[in-house]
Amino acid sequence: MTRYFCLDEPELFELETSVVAAEPGRVRLERSPFYPGGGGQLPDRGRLQWSGGEVAITGFESDGSGIWHVLAEPVTPSDAVIAAVDRPFRQLMRELHTDLHIVNALVYQGFDGALVTGVQMNEDGTARIDFDLPEADNERLKSLEGAINDVIRQDLPVRETHVGADEAFDEPGLIRSRSVTPPPTADGKIRVVEIAGLDRQACGGTHLASTGASRPLRILKIDNKGRHNRRLRIGLDGA
Ligand SMILES: [Zn+2]
Repeated sequence: MTRYFCLDEPELFELETSVVAAEPGRVRLERSPFYPGGGGQLPDRGRLQWSGGEVAITGFESDGSGIWHVLAEPVTPSDAVIAAVDRPFRQLMRELHTDLHIVNALVYQGFDGALVTGVQMNEDGTARIDFDLPEADNERLKSLEGAINDVIRQDLPVRETHVGADEAFDEPGLIRSRSVTPPPTADGKIRVVEIAGLDRQACGGTHLASTGASRPLRILKIDNKGRHNRRLRIGLDGA
């Protein structure tokens, strides 16, 4: 997997770049500031501007040689373009994604290393996360809300590092999903996202620079979805 520019430059929302391949309605860019989706995080939205016009980007298609940006109209931009990320939408995804790490960390620590079985973030400021938790008491899970908001208030730094794939599998708890492992980058490394003093886990998404940049979080609902799936629905304050 190629290393996404947006992960190395999380605060860069507008990028001058150039079209390296174009078909009516889709282009490939030399460098792209967009997160194309994955790991439960929705793909970025944004716009492409060039000397002849401007068009919304509606999605991403991946093939063996890279990522196509799907355009809202069957235009064929060429040469120099400005690629602009929809900043409020990205910020919302970063917020939900970081908060899901906090939820994940506290469930992992408080419920015998329970692993994640599924995640989905939504554009309305809510998200769901499923855990393999056959025995847990829902009231005890619901009571994590206070601890989650404590972590947000403590404004802990969120950092990323890259570790070798072998090392990643050797570190207990680093691979937190029961089914999905983030693919290594081209140099064989696994990206690890760390909330200082709280948690380290392999992840390929976008996050806040510190937990305090999130609004407070509520646990909206807990459902039993079969023996091995406990689903927590969470929502940002005001969502
Ligand atoms: Zn993540």
